[in-house]
Amino acid sequence: MTDVIVIGAGAAGLMCALAAGQRGRSVLVLEKGPRIGAKILISGGGRCNFTNLHAGPENYLSANPDFCKSALARYCPADFLALVERHRIPWHEKKLGQLFCDRSSRDIVEMLRRECDEAKVRIETAVEVSAVRRNESDESFEIETSRGTLTSRRLVIATGGLSLPKLGATDFAYRIARQFGLNVLSARTGLVPFTFGGGQLDICRSLSGISVPCRVQIESETSKTALPDFTENLLFTHRGLSGPAMLQISSYWQPPAKLRINLFPDGDARAWLEENRGSGQRLDTLLARRLPERFAIAWTAPLAPLRPIRSYSSAELDAIAGKLEDWTLQPAGTEGYTTAEVTVGGIDTRELHSKTMEARNVQGLHFIGEAVDVTGWLGGYNFQWAWASGHACGQAV
Ligand SMILES: Cc1cc2nc3c(=O)[nH]c(=O)nc-3n(C[C@H](O)[C@H](O)[C@H](O)COP(=O)(O)OP(=O)(O)OC[C@H]3O[C@@H](n4cnc5c(N)ncnc54)[C@H](O)[C@@H]3O)c2cc1C
Repeated sequence: MTDVIVIGAGAAGLMCALAAGQRGRSVLVLEKGPRIGAKILISGGGRCNFTNLHAGPENYLSANPDFCKSALARYCPADFLALVERHRIPWHEKKLGQLFCDRSSRDIVEMLRRECDEAKVRIETAVEVSAVRRNESDESFEIETSRGTLTSRRLVIATGGLSLPKLGATDFAYRIARQFGLNVLSARTGLVPFTFGGGQLDICRSLSGISVPCRVQIESETSKTALPDFTENLLFTHRGLSGPAMLQISSYWQPPAKLRINLFPDGDARAWLEENRGSGQRLDTLLARRLPERFAIAWTAPLAPLRPIRSYSSAELDAIAGKLEDWTLQPAGTEGYTTAEVTVGGIDTRELHSKTMEARNVQGLHFIGEAVDVTGWLGGYNFQWAWASGHACGQAV
């Protein structure tokens, strides 16, 4: 009988396996796909944003925000970076503490594979797990696979969330959790582009490819807790809005909430218009000094006929500044799991021990990574959760 079977060879499963193997446990990883680390390979545009130097509990969404603290504190970004440096993988900080590979995400997958090899972890790919049972006589687990039935003392479910079904994402973790009586919170897309309809879609389409700096927040009358805002770029697409600002806020968005966009995130729009009041330039020409020209033209179109800025009254400038700082849009929806980078929600953390990721009511059964209701912001936070939760579990199994 194997000490530990890990289902899923993604970031969390591989980290858990190597940590458990280093402690002398016999570990077998089962992966249904043809290769390990498939999401790592495509992450960060092929360069894997493998952690964020500033990762802390405040960068995660969860119905139980304290849950992630223990694992994150015991395996920090610096710990993963030390591993990366030990393998002499060249890296760089892009912005805001986001660390990327200089060369390719393959470096991270190879590093994990080598660590697993050294820890004598066995990895089998193209193995489909069809059912899991608990053997009540000795509290072991029976795992039915396409290559026969396997048994283990401990079972770790590291099969991720629902995002990217084309890479094989399924609700496997949620099904196993429910089978053993654990509560699963409803799941929704996170880090996903917005779609729009009607006139707002026409604007997005006409500006497709243009990127604009902004601060975005959600207009919410229902949320009991203060929601964060994000100051980053938005990107117009042929279906709506994407770019880092939109991906970040999408994790907090639920229909029918609106988005409030400030196009002057660094300054006071009214003061800027006042400074330029002596100018003979037309409103759209003036705005094109601060914002991309095509955007300035499209954004001011509803204010036609446009006039030289000096001919606007103070009340008119107040109204324009108000619109620049509070452009309100109503998304029709999101692009869904086909493009969402993560799943928000999942296995209720109140069912798990935060130090070990073990189910409170099922000894020996653990859940880690994205399957659990802990979702990071854009920028390396999701991998940091995968490493941290995998490591915490690997220390306990
Ligand atoms: C396009 C894209 C880019 C991203 N870029 C970044 C980034 O740069 N930085 C960042 O921090 N995060 C990024 N993320 C998010 C990050 O990839 C995930 O949060 C992370 O991979 C989750 O790790 P995991 O191990 O929990 O799950 P996964 O990586 O999803 O791994 C789960 C594994 O389990 C396997 N599996 C599923 N069901 C079964 C089964 N029944 N039997 C056997 N195996 C099974 C799957 O094939 C998969 O290999 C990105 C996500 C996407 C989609």
